[in-house]
Amino acid sequence: MPPVLSTFVSVIRPSDTVARLGGDEFVVLCEDLATDRVEAENELLEIADRLHRVLQAPIGEPDAPQWISASIGSHVIVGTGDPIREALGSADVAMYRAKALGRSRTEVFDEALRREALERIRIAAELRHAVDRDELHVVYQPIVDLRSGAVRAAEALLRWEHPELGSVPPTRFIDIAEESNVIVQLGEFVIDDVCATLACHPQIEYVTINVSARQLATSDFVETIVGALRRHDVAPERLAIELTENVLIDAVGSSLRQLDDLRAMGVGIGVDDFGTGFASLTYLKRLPVTFVKVDRSFVDGLPDEADDRSIVEAVVGLAHALDLLPIAEGVETEAQAAFLTALDCPMAQGHLYGRPAPIDELDLSTS
Ligand code: C2E
Ligand code: CA
Ligand code: CA
Repeated sequence: MPPVLSTFVSVIRPSDTVARLGGDEFVVLCEDLATDRVEAENELLEIADRLHRVLQAPIGEPDAPQWISASIGSHVIVGTGDPIREALGSADVAMYRAKALGRSRTEVFDEALRREALERIRIAAELRHAVDRDELHVVYQPIVDLRSGAVRAAEALLRWEHPELGSVPPTRFIDIAEESNVIVQLGEFVIDDVCATLACHPQIEYVTINVSARQLATSDFVETIVGALRRHDVAPERLAIELTENVLIDAVGSSLRQLDDLRAMGVGIGVDDFGTGFASLTYLKRLPVTFVKVDRSFVDGLPDEADDRSIVEAVVGLAHALDLLPIAEGVETEAQAAFLTALDCPMAQGHLYGRPAPIDELDLSTS
């Protein structure tokens, strides 16, 4: 028996069954629980506690110990029939919640999670038609030269107006679109809109687009970009993509090659939400990165919070040292702008300069 399975077996009850679902996912099936739901849930939580505790011990060689943690989702089903698949799905939803809330914890599938899961299913289904039904549009947030205040570039952000759900913010639909792969279709829509916009607005130096892991992993991602640039007769230097640190760190094989190809063509490549992901910075040397977005969470505390001041100073300094362009995000006040200007941060975006809006509403007169 693989060591991890025998570790599990050492703490579950003799009547329980443990199985590996695949990858790093395991299932423990506990039968003979109390007939009362709350009592049964408590029994499951006790078993989950024992699993967490036994996993806390270091594994591997004593001179090179390693630690693992688990996120556990649980769900009680009552009665017979064939609800196992459904139960696994529900436990899975609860496990994702445990992961999102910080790992090494257990979440029980409850009514709120059920509603959330149903809403996600609805959003996924509705999203499939969003492009065909013309419900999506792209808005542009100006990126300005901090010293002159002139608009130099813009970030493209996706908007979804659903006839019944109203305007659904990207924070609610992007990760669902990723899970269901619809993100590729949404991404193509954004790339085409951006290229059309660039063609009509020669004053804008470049536009950045947000690209998710799934998009970068699609084998024809570069072709999609090249196709749109050609269709609208736009120079590749006028397009830049933003990827989060985690996406960049995980980029291997064909994703990496696609990044190199895009860079070789002249497309800019930036790190979004810089500083919020992994601490390792080696990827900045390894990958063809050209700009970093100083995350809003750090700009927020400027100029009063000492920690935020130090982090922003360090990030802007690092960008300069590595010859990367720093762009500050979420600038809302003159005081933040003054602090960033004093640091020699050349570019910024944020509500102080303009909210994301249809391209025709951008003030390009000073560009
Ligand atoms: P992000 O890439 O970090 O985008 C910046 C977000 O900050 C945007 O939210 C923008 O409206 C907001 N923002 C800009 N300036 C300020 C400010 O001064 N103060 C505050 N409080 N907020 C500001 P939005 O448009 O809701 O987008 C949220 C996230 O959704 C984006 O975060 C991005 O990760 C994702 N997203 C948006 N459009 C796309 C897309 O086309 N493709 C992909 N893959 N992701 C997208
Ligand atoms: Ca972004
Ligand atoms: Ca960002």
